[in-house]
Amino acid sequence: MASQSLYRKWRSQTFDELVGQEHVVQTLRNAIVEGRVAHAYLFTGPRGVGKTSMARLLSKAVNCLDADPASRPCGRCTACVSIAEGRAVDVIEMDAASNTSVEDARELIERVQFRPAELRTKVYIIDETHMLSTAAFNALLKTLEEPPDHAIFILATTEVHKVPATILSRCQRFTFTRHGVASTAAHLRRVAEVEHLSLAEGVPEAVARSATGSMRDALGVLEQLASFTNGAITLDQVHSLLGMTSAAEVHALIDALLDGDVGAALRAVAGVADQGADIRQFTRDLVERLRSLLLLLASGDEALADSGDDEIGLMATWSRRAETPRLLHWLKIFSGLDYQLRTSPYGHLPLELAVVEALVTQMLPASAPAPARPGAAATARTAPVPPARPTATRPPVPPAPTAPTAPPPRPAPVEPAAPPTVASSPAPAVPAAELPPPAPPNEVPLTAASPAPPADAEAPAHPTPPVAHTHRSPEEAAAANADFSTLERVEGLWEEIKRGVRPKSPAVQALLHGARPIDVEGNTVVLLASSPFHKDNLEKAQNRRIIEDVLKKHLGAAFALRCTIEERDESRDLRGQIREARKDELVRAALNIFDAHIVDIEPESEPEA
Ligand SMILES: [Zn+2]
Repeated sequence: MASQSLYRKWRSQTFDELVGQEHVVQTLRNAIVEGRVAHAYLFTGPRGVGKTSMARLLSKAVNCLDADPASRPCGRCTACVSIAEGRAVDVIEMDAASNTSVEDARELIERVQFRPAELRTKVYIIDETHMLSTAAFNALLKTLEEPPDHAIFILATTEVHKVPATILSRCQRFTFTRHGVASTAAHLRRVAEVEHLSLAEGVPEAVARSATGSMRDALGVLEQLASFTNGAITLDQVHSLLGMTSAAEVHALIDALLDGDVGAALRAVAGVADQGADIRQFTRDLVERLRSLLLLLASGDEALADSGDDEIGLMATWSRRAETPRLLHWLKIFSGLDYQLRTSPYGHLPLELAVVEALVTQMLPASAPAPARPGAAATARTAPVPPARPTATRPPVPPAPTAPTAPPPRPAPVEPAAPPTVASSPAPAVPAAELPPPAPPNEVPLTAASPAPPADAEAPAHPTPPVAHTHRSPEEAAAANADFSTLERVEGLWEEIKRGVRPKSPAVQALLHGARPIDVEGNTVVLLASSPFHKDNLEKAQNRRIIEDVLKKHLGAAFALRCTIEERDESRDLRGQIREARKDELVRAALNIFDAHIVDIEPESEPEA
């Protein structure tokens, strides 16, 4: 190993060598070629992402002696070499963080009026610009108001909000982004090859992950590793140097989360704690993976997920088992843990609590009053429900005695219930008179714990016929109710249905991730597809058949499948109003308890007296 630090040694000498920041390179190259170099640039972004390297490249480019502007900086001419070696007196590098003495900075800036001694252009590179003293900022501002033709300023900062607006407005600004895991790892491989370091599989990615976007940090870690090994670097060495846990443990926890297996998840945490590994680092590694998974799932873009070559395959496998709402839930829980883990006197307890919370809370509808029925949690675990639309998890029950119910804010007359079982037959709902005599309820309604129907419901204790004022037919309402009961069943079973499709066709299952049930019309289930692509492919005869088979298996009756890409505005008709009313938790609870259904909705016209 050379004594020179790897980062300095590998600092790019030409635009082509620079890793990442393609958008900045392109713009600066164009400016050089077209002779439109600005007088002041501001490079912002996190540390270690190449701001100073870019500033040096730009200072070479404006001074390079190569005849072809498109080849500048050439890295070979006397100007380029003198700048690279730090000998060029006309390139003035200041670190505002260590050079805050008023006189120094101000004096240096004021000397900009003197022409360059050797080069074409005098270049001021001011690192950590936000640390400049007020006097230095004033001198800088004065200079930027009337910049001499022979000078340019390149300001770099990690904290752009601390740079005065008067300065910002006079600079051309570039935002530098973090290096991705994949591109950092690729660069590490190149460096290792030239430096004769042998990196075991997964080492470049592990180092890249630990550097969280900073190439300087990544090369620093590589250098440390190289200094205490004989050139062959193993994954274990990386883990022990960085206090990282092995990827296998993080993978085990993610697998357990995806399986909804609380026991396995807690065993994974215990395994990490037993090794005496750093639980905070382990949690950060977990969050990093979950984040990649979320990005992959939400965008379908592997580049955005940036998971590194060693985990691309794994990410793809996980993404087929994961659901966006669950991932969001987990990320919120685990990303908030760092502070607790740092301050808690109870070791890894916060992580254990988080694991249980992650897997247990998803079993309950997020905002529902959560009537705890035996078996409800188990049902919900296999069919997690989107938080916004709590779904009844109760299995269909035999016809039960019915009672009217009422949606707030206004009561609605209710007729005897068509029980949910009616909904599974695609025919219009059976008129109440033809139903078998009501059987006793098979479970005790949770009257004490459940929200009671609003007091103004004045609910009669016995089934009442539809109120006469309505001009809508009871059949229409009954059919709509039957459809929505089926829809709720489909929604509740949706994750299971998707899983049921998988053995027949993983591709169709993947398509279903881009669709959700929004309606049932008689014997047709309507899916809302997220794009015309999803709609067209889901509706292909062979794909539709696969889904219809699975629907039949889960719903116990044949349903056709239809896709749409538009949500209909149904707010004006009875169907839409019933659908809206059923979204209300109180209405739903009442409908469930009494096995009732809505027959009409009264406009909110008469004020309460
Ligand atoms: Zn040159």
